[in-house]
Amino acid sequence: MNTQNVRDVEGTVGPTPTVAPTLNVNIEKRYSDGTTIAADFDLPSNPPQVSIVFGPSGAGKTTLLRCIAGLERPTRGRIRYGEEIWSQHGTRHWVRPQKRPIGYLFQDFALFPHLTVERNIAFGLGAFSRSECHQKVEAISSRLGLEGLRGRRPGELSGGEQQRVALARVLVREPRILLLDEPFAALDERTRESVRSYLRNFLSQLEIPALVVTHDWIDALALGDEMMVLSRGRLLQKGSPQEVFTRPARREVAAAVGVDTVAPGRMLDRADGVVRLRVGRGELLAVDPGGEDNSFWVCIRGEDVTIEQGPPPRSSARNHLSGKVSAVFPQGTLTKVVLDVGFELVALVTRQAARDLNLAPGVGISAVFKASIVHLIPTK
Ligand code: ADP
Ligand code: MG
Repeated sequence: MNTQNVRDVEGTVGPTPTVAPTLNVNIEKRYSDGTTIAADFDLPSNPPQVSIVFGPSGAGKTTLLRCIAGLERPTRGRIRYGEEIWSQHGTRHWVRPQKRPIGYLFQDFALFPHLTVERNIAFGLGAFSRSECHQKVEAISSRLGLEGLRGRRPGELSGGEQQRVALARVLVREPRILLLDEPFAALDERTRESVRSYLRNFLSQLEIPALVVTHDWIDALALGDEMMVLSRGRLLQKGSPQEVFTRPARREVAAAVGVDTVAPGRMLDRADGVVRLRVGRGELLAVDPGGEDNSFWVCIRGEDVTIEQGPPPRSSARNHLSGKVSAVFPQGTLTKVVLDVGFELVALVTRQAARDLNLAPGVGISAVFKASIVHLIPTK
């Protein structure tokens, strides 16, 4: 029900869209072995957002989804959906999972192998008449491009198609919130790419908020409006994916979002908005972050580092660090080059560039990068 009757200023009664409620989660779940998962966040509905819960395996992501869905009881705190309290520790407030307007896409899709696509989708629509059921299944099948597959069984579908059937089964019940647990985990690398862009389009057109769990930062960057980083049961950072990736607030976040070089550095001096830092036996320049701190985690993404040989050309890049190659690792279409420039610095270059420069252990190079790509996290 998305409308309600209200009296407007002229005194007439008519339907007005209600404001969709916000899901507010502030909980802790403690297992008997002492493992604790804590989270405190909102899932906004106006406009509906795709929020990512990002973190390594074992961080507590699935536990968080299960608590929201009511499949797990939090050991502290409250889950509220607008004015409705779904769960509050120490009180009688508890809304059963079936009563929460949630669509939960399980990591393994959990389709019934013996049922056709059509019957899989219709499962859970029990309360509706046959013709209503048929109508609903038809509508959602066409929305997810499943018309031609309705007579098949899950075993006769590709991974991407199975996922669409699982999505259809969840969405046919018209949930107000969508939870997706590792939506790409069951797919092979080739399928992942196309499903990722399909899901991005699909979620952006969906009128309800979605919470997507993933341990893959490429997925997070591709899908999320907002992102929360969960590690060992703690929320370490919230922000737009872009912000979290370019400005991780903590060392663990930097490592988790794939920052290739994270090294301790100490400030030597600052002038004109630039700080000079000692890192290992080397030195580099970074944009002055301001503040009182003088000891930092120095974060540099491999794709921001250029490798040069020969005399340094005139350049606007503030950092030209000379050193040598310590190791070379092919990584798909790219090559990861580990450099010794007084500290260990990783550069990502194309395979072609690695060949042209004859990059191999011991070869002398200059590592070139701007002061502005160096991100500093105070060590505290
Ligand atoms: P993720 O989905 O991020 O991989 P989980 O939420 O599955 O993480 O698990 C988080 C932590 O909680 C892990 O250390 C896991 O072993 C523990 N855990 C999960 N479920 C249970 C359970 N039923 N009993 C005890 N510990 C559990
Ligand atoms: Mg999990």
